[in-house]
Amino acid sequence: MLSALLRQGSRSVTMAMTDNSEHAGYNAAVESFRDEEYPMLRGSIYLDHAGTTPYPRSLMERFTKDMMSNLYGNPHSVSASSQLTTSRIQDVRLRVLQFFNADPSDFDVVFVANATAGVKLVTDAMRAAPSGFDYAYHQSSHTSLIGVREEARNSVCLDDQQVDAWLNGNSPFQGEGDNYIDGNVLFAYPAQSNMDGRRLPLSWAKQLRDHQPASQSKRTYTLLDAAALAASSPLDLSCSDTAPDFIVLSFYKIFGFPDLGALLVRRQAEGVFGYRRYFGGGTVDMVVSVKERWHAPKSQFLHERLEDGTLPIHSIIALDVAMDVHNQLFGSMRKVAAHTSFLSRRLYEGLTSLQHGNGESVCTLYSPDPTTETLGAGPIIAFNIRNSLGAWVSLTEFEKLATLKNFHVRTGGVCNPGGIASALGLEPWEMRQNFSSGFRCGAENDIMAGKPTGVIRASLGAMSTISDVDSFVAFIVEFYHEESLPAVVRPEPVLWAEEPSRLHIDSLFVYPIKSCAGFRVPSGVDWEVRQEGLAWDREWCLVHRGSGQALSQKRYPQMALIRPTLHFDRGELRVTFAGLIPEHLPRQITVPLSNNPAMFQPVGCFRSMSSRVCGEEISAQTYLSEDINSFFSGVLNVPCVLARFPPGGQGKSMRHSKALLQRHQTSHHRNRISIPGAFPGPATPPDSPPDSDSECMQRRILLSNESPILAISLASVDALNSEIKRRGGGKEVSPAVFRANVIIGSRNTQTSYAEDKWSTMRIGHHDFTMLGSCRRCHMVCINQETAEKSEEPFVTLSKTRRFDGKVWFGSHMGYNPGRKGVLTKETQHPTIRVGDAVRPDVDS
Ligand SMILES: *Cc1c(COP(=O)(O)O)cnc(C)c1O
Repeated sequence: MLSALLRQGSRSVTMAMTDNSEHAGYNAAVESFRDEEYPMLRGSIYLDHAGTTPYPRSLMERFTKDMMSNLYGNPHSVSASSQLTTSRIQDVRLRVLQFFNADPSDFDVVFVANATAGVKLVTDAMRAAPSGFDYAYHQSSHTSLIGVREEARNSVCLDDQQVDAWLNGNSPFQGEGDNYIDGNVLFAYPAQSNMDGRRLPLSWAKQLRDHQPASQSKRTYTLLDAAALAASSPLDLSCSDTAPDFIVLSFYKIFGFPDLGALLVRRQAEGVFGYRRYFGGGTVDMVVSVKERWHAPKSQFLHERLEDGTLPIHSIIALDVAMDVHNQLFGSMRKVAAHTSFLSRRLYEGLTSLQHGNGESVCTLYSPDPTTETLGAGPIIAFNIRNSLGAWVSLTEFEKLATLKNFHVRTGGVCNPGGIASALGLEPWEMRQNFSSGFRCGAENDIMAGKPTGVIRASLGAMSTISDVDSFVAFIVEFYHEESLPAVVRPEPVLWAEEPSRLHIDSLFVYPIKSCAGFRVPSGVDWEVRQEGLAWDREWCLVHRGSGQALSQKRYPQMALIRPTLHFDRGELRVTFAGLIPEHLPRQITVPLSNNPAMFQPVGCFRSMSSRVCGEEISAQTYLSEDINSFFSGVLNVPCVLARFPPGGQGKSMRHSKALLQRHQTSHHRNRISIPGAFPGPATPPDSPPDSDSECMQRRILLSNESPILAISLASVDALNSEIKRRGGGKEVSPAVFRANVIIGSRNTQTSYAEDKWSTMRIGHHDFTMLGSCRRCHMVCINQETAEKSEEPFVTLSKTRRFDGKVWFGSHMGYNPGRKGVLTKETQHPTIRVGDAVRPDVDS
């Protein structure tokens, strides 16, 4: 049944069956004792060993027996119970060192609550040194390593190339670090990533040590996070010369129980702890506290000075039992490693080979291919699922189904922000953007802007079996493999206008700051279309400090010279001014694209002057930065502040489209008479409300005046320009004066003003609803290059394009996501680009 499913789900399932009798024997042994030893796993498939590992029955039984038959006292007296505890703990300490092949004369073991507590002990000591420390951490680090940076003088996050550069003698702290002649450096990295199982070279520790700076007062230490690696692999510390200085791990990840961790310290690095200030009970030989202040730390062993308060004695004894039982059930860690890496290769191959009926891959894997990694890879497979049309499967939806089917897997950011960001290609500003749009660790909305925000992580452990892996692959096949394409929900059949192929997108513009210059979308770039309009259009505005009114070119034509450009690689909006810049101001300022709450006036402080856009009261977030605000105030010579109105707001942080089909349009829509783009005809009888009225009232917009998107056609601009010339030789105008988002190309004059009659439009893959013509004012007379005003085109427009006493040019429109149904790559993240075909429909 399974192989049938697999065959169905894949073209070439070439799963190497048990290729080695040792693995077969191991697997069979686990199969035989699993039900007995792990009764809690019955009916479940446990694939979250990177989270924690289940504990065997024998361990719990033997531990209970030990507890019931011995009396363990607090190890601070000479009573028999106290002595028993002391000697057990000494034995376990030694046994832990042996487990990692570490010589007691080279290493000491400090018992801690978990790996994180070990990291904090090292951090505390490094910070207490007189000059503090500089901190570097690898980008695959667990959150618990990243937090160390908050205690450091300087910190940097390094990728592999940057680590290599460091190993070749280029300190990542050059520049900043040069100012400091002393102070230690700490480099931390995981032996294995808890996100995707990638392993990092243990040799880095020695290589860095060999690069010690000449200065004796500045040393580089390495902290190895072995929490993920140690869970299923041997960690060999037999050579203290090459070993890291500090190693942290959690025993529950290896044995399932007890909840205990260790910090292993290379004795050569013990000096670091000399600056630690706090001392707790059990760590001192004498304390004087009345009248004088003095204490003598214990001096023989490091662990005596670091283990504050009563040791977790029962847990330490449980650890002893855990090591016995683990050894009996699974043999050595080497065997566990061989078995788990065999299973993870099988899982990796199983998932990579799954293909939908149309040949598209079902799974996108982020873990390294275990067969090609020189260091091998941990038994952790991180991936996401797509449907046959390329849309990502939501993690929360996956999780619900997996839970229902009793699979235990982890989804989300898995406490590894750097690993996730690099696997998913998330830029810092996108992560902050997602955060400010409401995304949180464990949030429901996990696909944002067409990208997943987390991964599915399946991880294997000592008691995993071949059948666990196969059932998981079969589960994916059963629920996510699509043999035939789902019926794509197509828009209703449309009657395309006569000249379908001639129309295309000539150019796309967004106006990041309302009323300032446009940013031309580079050709070849897919630009996101949202309900509110094109991404990044009118997200910012300038607000008058006195009146709270949003500034507009109508009153301040110089705003046309404020030129914002979007730089996604740097995550910034750069703003320059094309006019004369007052001397004290910079030529350019940058505003982060990420929506960092710290940059804004706290809500409430600005209430006395809530902003107004087009007469409508809104609540935008105003920037605090004087650098930013004085730039705008200075170049315009108007006291103003920058404000942001990000998508996704509620209440006064949300606006709706006011565009309506005009009477001249509704009548044409109804009667389908073509209008001569000339004079107003006889007054049409009063119209009943247009059909799409209620719909456009509900469309959300940001800071644009009326509608999500404004389109113009070059054919209409051409027609207008010929009319301007014909009527008296005024100057031709550039399409830029209309400040449109979508500029439709086709120099065919037949199509001039054809857009008045369109009711829908398809651009590339996407449908848009036309929301009515755009009413014009004299702002179209501002030359967008020079900010100078002229008479045209308003004079000619008012002679040729006046209906109902108002002047019209261009069309409002909004994205129409179509009927809810099958998700495709396109509908999940709708985009348009320059050159896309434009196919209008005149029938509604
Ligand atoms: C689990 C894990 C940690 C954290 O361990 P705690 O027991 O929660 O302190 C740190 N790093 C890695 C790589 C891990 O897998």
